[in-house]
Amino acid sequence: MNPIWTIKKILLWTQEYLSNQKVTESPSLDAQILLAHTLNVDKVYLFTHYDKPLSPEETKHYKELIKRRLKGEPIAYIVGFKNWYGLDIKVTTDVLIPRPETETLIDISIAMLQTLDHPKRVYDLFTGSGCIGLAIAKKYPDLEIISVDKSSKALEIARENAAHLNLNHIIFEEKDLSLVESYDELSKKYGKADLVLSNPPYLSMEEWKHISLGIQEYEPYEALVSGELGTELSRTLLDQKEKILDSGFLLMETSLTQLQSLKLDKISQFYWQSVGNLPIGYSLIEDMSYSPRFLCWRTFAEQG
Ligand code: GLN
Repeated sequence: MNPIWTIKKILLWTQEYLSNQKVTESPSLDAQILLAHTLNVDKVYLFTHYDKPLSPEETKHYKELIKRRLKGEPIAYIVGFKNWYGLDIKVTTDVLIPRPETETLIDISIAMLQTLDHPKRVYDLFTGSGCIGLAIAKKYPDLEIISVDKSSKALEIARENAAHLNLNHIIFEEKDLSLVESYDELSKKYGKADLVLSNPPYLSMEEWKHISLGIQEYEPYEALVSGELGTELSRTLLDQKEKILDSGFLLMETSLTQLQSLKLDKISQFYWQSVGNLPIGYSLIEDMSYSPRFLCWRTFAEQG
């Protein structure tokens, strides 16, 4: 006879099982997310219904999800979305799973927009799931947002996200941003923006070999790796920025290794609350754990 699994019992069992298998750093959270997803309830429901028994179908479905997790599949792909900056962002293996660090990019962007006089237009380059443009569109419904990616499959997800979140004013554009012409084309079609945002692929081929297997096997290579060096796409973006940026800011997520390889002139580091004081030119902005993560280019400082 099959054992009766209550919510409490199955959660405790999975936590222990996942901990022993060492596939995840958050066994209890993973178990809760997957069980809530199976039962189509929120996590709070689990704690208020500890003694509720699972039906045999629910148990079977849940165990299938646990098996996928054990193989290293990221939770966000299993449940099909990632809660990011308070938005439920649909994800498939065609797009990168939005990262918590990138949420800081939104906080900085908002601070930047506040320093600008009537900003009109924002580009989100390498938009992937669309998360960056979506978060800005949610906060600033009157801004024109152009979200760009070369992957039509990624753009399909990004469009679905926009529709689902009712952010129907975002423009999606399919362009290969490794090509200089793409920047000319964007400029011609839409004009210059007040803010250019980007979390470009920035790993080198070699770095990719050393990232965790879960990322390697499931997340799109194209969204992670820029090329042999890792700096190719960021370099093109920095070289071409003036074609698509008016007065305002470019803000790009990056990594320490990449910052070193980009060999920019000596640049100062800032905490993001001091965005109003950023100098003209390049500066580095720290993330929540005080490590330099965002590269900023400011065209000119606002008066007053
Ligand atoms: N803009 C998306 C994100 O920040 C995708 C980035 C990418 O594909 N490199 O998650």
